[in-house]
Amino acid sequence: LTSTEETVLETIEDEDIDFLRLQFTDILGVVKNVSVPARQAEKAFREGIYFDGSSIEGFVRIQESDMRLIPDPNTFAILPWRTNEHGAAARMICDVVDTTSGEPFAGDPRTVLKQAIDRANEMGYTVNAAPEPEFFLFEEDEEGRATTQTNDAGGYFDVAPKDLASDVRRDIIYGLESMGFEIEASHHEVARGQHEINFEYDDAISTADNVATFRTVVRAIAAQHDLHATFMPKPIAKVNGSGMHMHVSLFTEDGENAFHDGDDEFDLSETAHAFLEGVLEHAPAITAVANPTVNSYKRLVPGYEAPVYVAWSDRNRSALIRKPAARVPAASRIELRSPDPSCNPYLALAAIIQAGLDGIERGLDARDPVRDNIYEFDEAKRAEHGIDTLPSNLGEAIDAFEADDVVQSALGEHVSEKFAEAKRQEFEDYLVDVSQWELDRYLETF
Ligand code: GLU
Ligand code: MG
Ligand code: MG
Repeated sequence: LTSTEETVLETIEDEDIDFLRLQFTDILGVVKNVSVPARQAEKAFREGIYFDGSSIEGFVRIQESDMRLIPDPNTFAILPWRTNEHGAAARMICDVVDTTSGEPFAGDPRTVLKQAIDRANEMGYTVNAAPEPEFFLFEEDEEGRATTQTNDAGGYFDVAPKDLASDVRRDIIYGLESMGFEIEASHHEVARGQHEINFEYDDAISTADNVATFRTVVRAIAAQHDLHATFMPKPIAKVNGSGMHMHVSLFTEDGENAFHDGDDEFDLSETAHAFLEGVLEHAPAITAVANPTVNSYKRLVPGYEAPVYVAWSDRNRSALIRKPAARVPAASRIELRSPDPSCNPYLALAAIIQAGLDGIERGLDARDPVRDNIYEFDEAKRAEHGIDTLPSNLGEAIDAFEADDVVQSALGEHVSEKFAEAKRQEFEDYLVDVSQWELDRYLETF
């Protein structure tokens, strides 16, 4: 056993941990776990825990369903909302191994992201990322089911008492901190009932792990307050949706920010410019991964601070990529504003990283930034600036995904195939549905 594994075993003893949740995510980004008695921890480290992968979305065919979970001891954390006088529960995030080959399983999103990071490492870089997840808090009805009734009437950066949810947010933050998160800031977002909690940047794997954990913690602690937290991108029409902007930078092996160049007008190095252009070129295909639900495309419309147009800017928030002001060289980074919190964070980061690395490898130069509010451009003006539009629905996004070899190979053959198939089906289900909007509009008119 490694020393980190030993430490985990000691903590299990000292903290009276009864149950261990071994956690991983499916292709759709849904967190799954198997619970084992804590005394199995040593066995889990030594040989892994076997499970049947055939019932996990997109994992395997029935005939080859034996998978093994290998817990990553660095991700050990006690679940704050499961601790009481009877003992405590903890979780570890796992890598999935194919029992037949003994190799990392190609359908495991964490493996997919590790491959992207390996490629960056081979090119001499490490990858840092920080997300800005936004979410809504809604009331529950008498049966405990989620409504779209917000529990406060606060707005951007409002403080209590209007921001009634600040108690919930404080509990969420305590919960996250007890699980090792370093919280940077939290605030009430623009829409009623909408919130944002930012945490410290980290290496790409830790950040993806953190997003998966974050969603679980937020929902669990909101539920303790009889509220439903949702990461659905656009739960209410005609108000801001929830994004999960992703900040990314590459560092060199000796810890320098490879994105920083103080002599550049934008503080960005050639490497950063090339990465940025790579992401813009592959943006339509990345959208399928970073905005993977039917509902995602109700957010990507003009007027609500969400991106619609493929452009970058050092100023305004209507562009797809923003260059945030950086106070210190280490903070030079780009902010991709399209991802939403319904995405699989492992796959989204893998797609973004591989697209950017493709830009570096091809020595691309970034196009000129657009400094005006692009929402106000008409089609002619957009054409004049060479500005493309992001896919306008999930179907178009999957088309773009299937036409993009770089983004498909970022996910690998197994995941790409399963992902496109599942998403195509989801979009078709949506197309044949008859919505409330249609009934309201047509039922009595015709
Ligand atoms: N809620 C906006 C979105 O959908 C982002 C607002 C902000 O800039 O934080 O992306
Ligand atoms: Mg925000
Ligand atoms: Mg942002």
